[in-house]
Amino acid sequence: MRIDGAHGYRLVALGQPLERFELPPLEPAPDEVVVEVFGCGICHTDVGFAVDGVPTRKPLPLVLGHEISGRVVAAGDNVRAWLGRLVIVPAVVPCGDCPACRANRPTICRNQFMPGNDGDGGFATHTRVPARGLCPVPEPLPPGLSAESLSVVADAVTTPWEAIRRAGVGPEDVAVFVGVGGVGGFGVQIAAALEAAVIAIDIDRGKLELAAQHGAGWTLDSSAMSDKDLKTAVRNFTKQSGRKNIGLKIFETSGTPDGQQTAFGLIDFGGYLAVVGFTPRKVELRLSNLMALDATARGNWGCPPGQYPAALDLVLRGKVAIQSYVEVHSLNDAPAVFDSVARHSITRRAILKPVANGT
Ligand SMILES: [Zn+2]
Ligand SMILES: [Zn+2]
Repeated sequence: MRIDGAHGYRLVALGQPLERFELPPLEPAPDEVVVEVFGCGICHTDVGFAVDGVPTRKPLPLVLGHEISGRVVAAGDNVRAWLGRLVIVPAVVPCGDCPACRANRPTICRNQFMPGNDGDGGFATHTRVPARGLCPVPEPLPPGLSAESLSVVADAVTTPWEAIRRAGVGPEDVAVFVGVGGVGGFGVQIAAALEAAVIAIDIDRGKLELAAQHGAGWTLDSSAMSDKDLKTAVRNFTKQSGRKNIGLKIFETSGTPDGQQTAFGLIDFGGYLAVVGFTPRKVELRLSNLMALDATARGNWGCPPGQYPAALDLVLRGKVAIQSYVEVHSLNDAPAVFDSVARHSITRRAILKPVANGT
């Protein structure tokens, strides 16, 4: 089965606006599917590719977008069972068969496929992806949750989920999120769902208010505080929280050099820093603090597909609210919306929705 007449918006050259083009007919290989895109979130990693000069693994021109939800409308011979299913496409699809995959480290698979990086992604009406790792979405959806908004589960929800899971966050912990926008806002809710006490730090009052409504027990506006005052405030809240008070777990979810400085500065004895956000820019740190404080710093490239159903479950059960963190735009407006995200004039997670697709 092949899909004709699909179109998308591709990046042709660094710094250029996205350009509309007709995709060639999409025919899935035996282990692939074609997904009719219901929604595709715009991630700051996409902005990194388009504006900051981070190279895509498949050379330009390329359709960006790795946060995809939609319905399988064509399936290869080996994966016919997916036909008709509502799915979330993982942002990183491991091969399943290399030394890294066999060692249960699928996120570092060197044969991985990332839509919008290793091949055309989701800023399109349709996209062709491996069936491996697809996350099925049970239907009908709970009231108030749209299929297009579930696209953010592909990255903005699952990447902090994986970071939080690796950190072993639970009821004894205090979790700090530096940057509570598109990724950190979900991180706050996930940590709260796991019964941790949560501190949200940001420079944007609106984001802090939203975090306070969705699981943050304490919010701190770091634009108005010195590093020392911030550290004191975090210590005070940790004491008040009645949690075990050692090994603060810090999540850098801003993806900015300032946020990284702030997060690193909060590391205390036995602390844990998870680097979740991405920036190509450098920061100056005294790395020996890790040694002196017996602390740990760790990153994660996306999330193994096997973790997606657990993260999706939190969303379906209403433990992680999505709707107030996203805004949906027509795919037809992709160039302007992308530009607004790049200029930070859209602060919620922007989702591109092909007008004719979905519900
Ligand atoms: Zn992303
Ligand atoms: Zn592999």
